[in-house]
Order: sequence, then C-alpha cells, then structure tokens
Amino acid sequence: MPAYQDTELYIDGQWAPAASGRTIPVVNPATHATIGTVAHAEKADLDRALEAADKGYKAWRKVSAYERSKVMRKAAGLLRERAEKIGTLMTLEQGKPIVESTLEVMAGADLIEWFAEEGRRAYGRVIPARAEGVYQLVVKEPVGPVAAFTPWNFPINQAVRKISAALCTGCSIIIKAPEETPASPAELVRVFADAGVPAGVLNLVYGVPAEISSYLIPHPIIRKVTFTGSTPVGKQLAAMAGQHMKRVTMELGGHSPVIIFDDADIDVAAKTMTFMKYRNAGQVCVSPTRFLVQEGVYKQFVEKFVEGTKAVKVGDGFDKDTKMATLANARRQTAMIANVEDAKKHGGKVQTGGYPIGEKGNFFEPTVITELDKTAQAMNVEPFGPLAIINPFKTFDDAATEANRLSYGLAAYAWTRSAKTANAIASQVETGMMTINHLGFALPEVPFGGVKDSGYGSEGGLEALEPYLVGKFVTQAGL
Ligand code: NAD
Repeated sequence: MPAYQDTELYIDGQWAPAASGRTIPVVNPATHATIGTVAHAEKADLDRALEAADKGYKAWRKVSAYERSKVMRKAAGLLRERAEKIGTLMTLEQGKPIVESTLEVMAGADLIEWFAEEGRRAYGRVIPARAEGVYQLVVKEPVGPVAAFTPWNFPINQAVRKISAALCTGCSIIIKAPEETPASPAELVRVFADAGVPAGVLNLVYGVPAEISSYLIPHPIIRKVTFTGSTPVGKQLAAMAGQHMKRVTMELGGHSPVIIFDDADIDVAAKTMTFMKYRNAGQVCVSPTRFLVQEGVYKQFVEKFVEGTKAVKVGDGFDKDTKMATLANARRQTAMIANVEDAKKHGGKVQTGGYPIGEKGNFFEPTVITELDKTAQAMNVEPFGPLAIINPFKTFDDAATEANRLSYGLAAYAWTRSAKTANAIASQVETGMMTINHLGFALPEVPFGGVKDSGYGSEGGLEALEPYLVGKFVTQAGL
C-alpha cells in the first residue's frame, strides 16, 4: 500500500498541529484501516486563521492582478508535477480509481490557470456622465476574507474552484476541507504556498464542520461564504449567512433527469450515460439518476444500459483496469442498501446489482432499477451512489413534468436527433445546467451551479468571479 501522511492545519503561512494537539483518524474506505490523522482545529486555531485572513486580505488585495496571476500559474504547474503523488493520496483516503484521482488533480491545474487569467480581466466600467468633467466609475474590488466549506467526493475539484476564485480576485480565504479526505486538499494548499501565495492569504482548517461554520460565518472578518454539500446543510448555512448579511455561493445536491427520446442514438446514449453514472461510484452532484426513456426505445435502452452496467469492472482503486471502486464512506453504503430495499417495496425491478460487495470496504454493486414508483425514496432523495433508475414516458410533456417534479435543479441530460426537441427540452427543464447529446459539464470556462434547492451562484465561467467582487461606484468631478 502506498504511503499516506498525517495532515496539519495551515494558518498564517505555517503548517502546524491544532493548538490542543487533537486529531481525527482518517480511514481508507476500501479497507476500513486507519491510515493517518488530521489535525482538529478549535476556537484558538480559528481565531488565528481569522486574524491571518484579515492580514492576508489587506496585503493581497494590493498585489496587482497580473502578479496574482503569475503566482497562480506557478501553482498550477506545481500541481501538474505532483499529480501522481496527490492522486495516490486521494485514492487512499477517498477510494476512487487512481485514473480518476489523477485526472481530478490535472483538471485542478486547468482550473487554477483559467481563474488566473480571468482575474486579469475582472474589468469595471465607465458610465457616461450627465455633466461635463464628471467621471462615473464602477471599480471591481475583492469582497474580502472568504469562509469556504468543501466535501469529500471531489477533494481537489471542490476546493480548487473556491480557492482560485478567491485568490484571482484579491480575496483571502479560510477553507474547511473534508475531514474524511484531508491529505489531497492539503497538498493543493501546499502548491499555492510553494508557488508564493503570501502568509495569511490562504488558510486551511479541519474539525467539527458545524462548530467551524457557526464560528466563522457570523464572524465580522468573514465577508463571503461558499459551501458545497447537501441541500439541508446548505440551507442552514445560507440562513446563518443571511442573518449576518454575508454573501453566499451554494453548490448543493441534485437528482439529475436524463431524458432519452425515441429518435436518440441509443448506442451512444447508453454507452455515454453508463460511463457518467458510475464515475466516482455515482457520488457526484451532477450524477445522472432518473432516466426517463420514451416508450419506443425503452426496452432497447434498458437492455443496453444494463449490459453496460454489468461490464463495469468494480475493484481496487489502485488497479488501473478498475472503472468503479469503493464508496467513500460507510454512510453511502448504508444509504444504498436502504434505497434498494425501499425500491423493492415500491415495485421497482432490480435489473442488476443491489448488494454490497465483499466484507472489507464500502463496495456496492453498480445497480439498475426499472419501473420504480414516484413515491420511492430513491425517486425523491439524491442517492449519491451507483444507482440508476429507469422509467418509461409517453409524451414530451410527460418527460418535462417528471424532470421538474423535484425541488432540485442542478443538472439535466437529454438525447435526441431533433434540433426542435433539443431546443424545447432545454427551455422546459428547470435546471442550472443542461447537456444534450454529449457530456459537457464542468470545464473551467463554463458556468457550474444550480437553481431551486440545488443552490445559487456559479463555480465556473465568468459568473464564478462576480460573487467574490464588489462593484464600488465612484463619481468624480474635476475641480
Ligand atoms: P452531510 O450533509 O453531513 O455533509 C455534506 C458535506 O457538508 C460534508 O463535507 C460535511 O463536512 C459538510 N457539512 C456538514 N454539516 C456542516 C456544517 N454544519 N457546516 C459546514 N459544513 C458541514 O452528509 P454526508 O454524509 O457527508 O453527505 C451526504 C449527502 O451530502 C450526499 O448524499 C449528497 O446529497 C450531499 N453531498 C453533496 C455534494 C456535492 O457535491 N454537492 C458533496 C458531498 C455530499
């Protein structure tokens, strides 16, 4: 087994244990073995992080966008150089196949570079004045120190979007990364530190999530809050931020519909969606979940999708042939067992899978359930695991109604050869993102975020910078 490392806090440019010396064990989800520890921050550590973020912000906002960009591009280069090592840490602590871990690290470097460039183009504007000699300017300034909370499903990807948006706009940031997968995001922080991000600008803590968020969010030093995680927790944090008038970005859960029309290319749709469904064992906020297939191609699609599912090689994350590995924690395996039991009670037909695999780790079979009633738990609550539900539909309106039935609105997929149907479904579905006839989400330059209970704000594209900027209006007359 490759070596793992204990994780410390990073505050004011120093790596150190928590002031109390407390730590939290880190478990390998594939073996249940304890592989290391992560430092457990408490109030004294958070106070130091806040003080550092305040100082860091005051210095970093004065660094030109050009210089900030240079430091960030250096960090991107270091991340690429260290991708193999960091990917290994990620597979040890999160479980995903090593190919996916390493790709996530490499994609992180692309994100850093894109934000580094875009920070140089965070333009304000000049508004024509009504009086001669008056200049009316909108100046873009950083919002201030940010508190960020990121989850365990993409330890690098979720963190890098928040860190990059903060740094490129001149903000400082305190990030509470996931306690279950701490080493890989710590290595991400290390590349920024090694690239020359000054002390205090970027701070990393771990601990009890609710204790940290309830201390940081109301604190007067913090000016913006960003969270990726479940909708119930997101609502709590957004409410707290609202009470203290803090800006918020919320990237929450989803329950993505996949609408497959009679005229779709079924071979390509089945192959592409099988890949997407079992990526990261379905622990993906944009994971395809409710497959709605038009009656004429229903049987054919189910056959092909089930065939593709049975061919998914489940195994050790370090085996290069593995396509799906363990779930990241025991909670997900428990949730999958409960979903399948509940589905059976609601008339669902388990076409393949449905059971945990082996005695060790949190492995679960890639699972397909068809003809599942709308009242079943998995039809309403994000399964966040390797479960695809396939149901038939008759008309366009039936599909659009089912797609919009839930309070989620993060991502949606559609397959059709008709441009008219494609346009219509893109306009009908209430979603933050829609991909038609291919997989097109999550590139650095495109928006990433949801509507309804899936949150608000974007973590990609131009839209990702705005929440970290304040448009200050300055009007000036010549004397
Ligand atoms: P959870 O809801 O307890 O935690 C989700 C994330 O939020 C974790 O990273 C956790 O550390 C953090 N968190 C929880 N309470 C917090 C608080 N009070 N303050 C700050 N951070 C807090 O449950 P979980 O078992 O880790 O995940 C369960 C569900 O969360 C999944 O089923 C999925 O729906 C959702 N989730 C979504 C994403 C995403 O990418 N949108 C990522 C991870 C989990």
